[in-house]
Amino acid sequence: MRLAAAMGRLGTESAFEVLARATRLQQEGRDVVNLGIGQPDFPTPGHIVEAGVKALRDGHHGYTPANGILPLREAVARDVRLRRGVEIDPDQVVIVPGGKMTMAFAISMFGEEGAEILYPDAGFPIYRSMIAFTGATAVPVRLHEDKGFAFSADEVLSLVNERTRLLIVNSPANPTGGVVPKAELDRLVEGLEAHPHVAVLSDEIYARIVYGDAGFVSLLAYPQIQDRLILLDGWSKAYAMTGWRLGYGVWPGETAEAATRLAVNFNSCVNAAAQWAGIAALDGPQDAVGRMVETFRRRRNLIVDGLNRLPGFRCRMPGGAFYVFPNVEGTGYGSRGLQDLLLERAGVATVSGTSFGVQGEGYLRFSYAASTGAIEAALGRIGELLGG
Ligand code: PLP
Repeated sequence: MRLAAAMGRLGTESAFEVLARATRLQQEGRDVVNLGIGQPDFPTPGHIVEAGVKALRDGHHGYTPANGILPLREAVARDVRLRRGVEIDPDQVVIVPGGKMTMAFAISMFGEEGAEILYPDAGFPIYRSMIAFTGATAVPVRLHEDKGFAFSADEVLSLVNERTRLLIVNSPANPTGGVVPKAELDRLVEGLEAHPHVAVLSDEIYARIVYGDAGFVSLLAYPQIQDRLILLDGWSKAYAMTGWRLGYGVWPGETAEAATRLAVNFNSCVNAAAQWAGIAALDGPQDAVGRMVETFRRRRNLIVDGLNRLPGFRCRMPGGAFYVFPNVEGTGYGSRGLQDLLLERAGVATVSGTSFGVQGEGYLRFSYAASTGAIEAALGRIGELLGG
């Protein structure tokens, strides 16, 4: 058999490999604290589960329109108005099986040989992987630890040229937890006005998980770029629904039709019951989201404080998501070496910063979507191993 050359360019998401290794160690009887995987450790709120079950009982078992059922797209439009203050047409919404699919569609739509796509480094590894798959050139945008892992708008704009087709922005971010300050977004948008050929994909999957003071602003709220802004969001992180595989994109102009065409080709539609559950999530009570974010905030404070006490660790207080990205250069270990050491010798699963790009060297990602007991145990074990 001979696979297509593009397969050789397709990367992966190491968090899933770490999860597999941690699970294997657990099966061998080892006690592993898993701070590697990025998903809420809460159950999906009961009323959402009930809506999904009811949908199945009501006979919603067939295909739906490829872009999603209208009541769900209308619920998304209401939610976008409520949380981002922007009026959108439900026909701009394309429902997909998880946020990742909006990413894949956007990158497929603009990526080809000769095109350049800008993506955050350190960033979610699938951006780079998908860009390479399309044959486009992946151009990393550096994030700065001393700016709270935000980019510099001037640096981004200096990377734009006539071949640039798409700029990917992710705030709040995986793996850093960084939230890009409004002033930096203002400068970026102002500069982009000189480059009307550049589309923007704003990955806002962590938009609901922001810790007050960080001041999240959606890029969709900038009228200057609304006609070329693709919004990626979904239910996975906000409603603890990673396994339901439900996400959405808000697409400008003719790209909604193009995204729907990709959906017809790749997935036909999203599981119908999950779509009805998605309506219950957006329209129903939001208190579970608030409680989850409050719990994450306490854990964030605990883990940042604990990591900063470890020898060789330096950890910033992140503004959103549920990750911390400490600088571990002071330990004397490389990121990958330290990831392996912590897993094998301390039974603590983390993800090497290098899994998120070359700029991730010198960092480790910890997910604090885990109980305070697990976080305390992990900190204790690492301290013992490294002599903290
Ligand atoms: N975007 C970012 C930055 C993520 O971290 C993730 C998941 O980890 C996704 C998108 C994909 O989310 P989903 O599970 O809904 O596909």
